[in-house]
Amino acid sequence: MSEIPDRTEVIVVGAGPVGLAVAASLAGHGHGVTVVDRQATGANTSRAAVVHARTLEMLERIDVSNRLAGLGIQAPQFSIRDGDRELLPVRFDRLPTAYPYTLMVPQSITEQVLLDRLEDLGGEVHRPCLATGVSQTADGVEVTLDTGDIIEAEYVVAADGMNSKIRDLAGLGQNGSDTLSLSFMLADVRVESGLPPDEVLLFFATPGMLVVAPLPDGSFRLVAEVDDAPEQPDVAYAQRLLKTRGPRHSTAKVTEVIWGSRFRVHERVADRYRAGRVLLAGDAAHTHSPAGGQGMNLGLRDAVALGDALSSALREGRDDKLDEYAASSRDEALQVVALAHRLTRLATAPRAVRPLRNGALRLLALLPPFRRRLAEQLSGIGHR
Ligand SMILES: Cc1cc2nc3c(=O)[nH]c(=O)nc-3n(C[C@H](O)[C@H](O)[C@H](O)COP(=O)(O)OP(=O)(O)OC[C@H]3O[C@@H](n4cnc5c(N)ncnc54)[C@H](O)[C@@H]3O)c2cc1C
Repeated sequence: MSEIPDRTEVIVVGAGPVGLAVAASLAGHGHGVTVVDRQATGANTSRAAVVHARTLEMLERIDVSNRLAGLGIQAPQFSIRDGDRELLPVRFDRLPTAYPYTLMVPQSITEQVLLDRLEDLGGEVHRPCLATGVSQTADGVEVTLDTGDIIEAEYVVAADGMNSKIRDLAGLGQNGSDTLSLSFMLADVRVESGLPPDEVLLFFATPGMLVVAPLPDGSFRLVAEVDDAPEQPDVAYAQRLLKTRGPRHSTAKVTEVIWGSRFRVHERVADRYRAGRVLLAGDAAHTHSPAGGQGMNLGLRDAVALGDALSSALREGRDDKLDEYAASSRDEALQVVALAHRLTRLATAPRAVRPLRNGALRLLALLPPFRRRLAEQLSGIGHR
């Protein structure tokens, strides 16, 4: 790793998917960019496992879409079911895009593809470096690291995740802290037979919801809302969820839990995305329910848009492009948070109304414009 420079054009704090994508964009535009991350190595867990069509369209601008698309499962359809009965099919294969599918790929692979691209362009990530301070003057900004280094730059990108220190130091607080009183379990499991290898399924069963989605190594992602999510779900737990909420006539047998986690849902969007020379992107700017797999997608779209806007500001003095980024990305986040909220409420409706909900969905499924609109919203194509 090379030495941390005293001066650069843009400092990116955080080397999650969003920080890596902003940095690759800036390096691709020919700008000097320095990326720091507090972790000694990148995370290797699967976390966000869905990349949608609009995100792939935008990632073309940093030349990673084809590589990423080749590493995942291209699922042409997402289907809401109750047992073996289909309630609502959502077709991605009819969308007007070069990527008519939802791509199932673990976040660790997405991050590796972005890091490879950054390194191809001559960039790197400085680790472990915790950013502890940020201060602005009229013509520049300084970021202080726990190593004692101080880096001067024209701009700072806060891509340091949900608990962003840079956001808080810059006074870009998030409006409120809304935590939904729902608890979710997540597990990546190996399953012997009985589950489709190229379709994302969302079961609206009477005992509760369950997502079953294929991953490229042959495993499956399970996500369920449960009363008390275990810290580490085991095989029996995952099997019980599949049996009580999944397909009715299935021989699917869970043989291993590869990785598990539990989480609660926070819904927040930063009041503003810009304070002078500090700009927010990704989870630092917005967090919401994982319903519809929107979080990382929204962040990656922020990243590509911000990379372009910063390049215009640096090269042509187009400061207005940064305000445009801040306003339009925040608008998009408000829409996505609202969509994820509606999907979550629908998926976790009170038990008594679940049969009614499922009946209503079957009726709505008869309306092609409704199905098309949902596909556009989930894929992000509606945000073009
Ligand atoms: C268990 C789990 C499951 C998830 N599942 C899904 C899913 O199914 N679908 C979905 O869309 N999303 C999911 N997410 C959310 C998704 O992972 C995030 O939306 C995505 O990682 C956001 O990317 P980011 O780059 O903005 O932030 P992060 O990935 O959080 O990256 C922030 C980076 O900043 C670094 N950092 C933080 N503070 C500092 C500092 N002061 N100085 C230097 N570095 C710092 C961190 O080390 C980290 O590497 C999941 C998250 C978790 C934890």
